[in-house]
Amino acid sequence: MAERRRFKKRTCRYCEKKVTFIDYKDIELIKHSLSERYKIMPRRLTGNCKKHQEMVEEAIKRARHAALVPYIVDRKRVIPNPFEELKPIYK
Ligand SMILES: [Zn+2]
Repeated sequence: MAERRRFKKRTCRYCEKKVTFIDYKDIELIKHSLSERYKIMPRRLTGNCKKHQEMVEEAIKRARHAALVPYIVDRKRVIPNPFEELKPIYK
């Protein structure tokens, strides 16, 4: 149930917006289906319909190729340890 709480809206966001084509340059659209580490979110979490999931996958892969979205992300850079950052302040 934890998953459901995090993604309570189970409807396809792209259907809601009546998106017919997802452009790889449209990061705003793609963003919904990317995790914080730029992985493509599975449909069971986002609630996307099959049609739009396939479109968004295609768009993300193109966006990666065009270097708009990174393929891999340095773990330290994306989710910095908040305690590490706080250390200098408290010293
Ligand atoms: Zn849809």
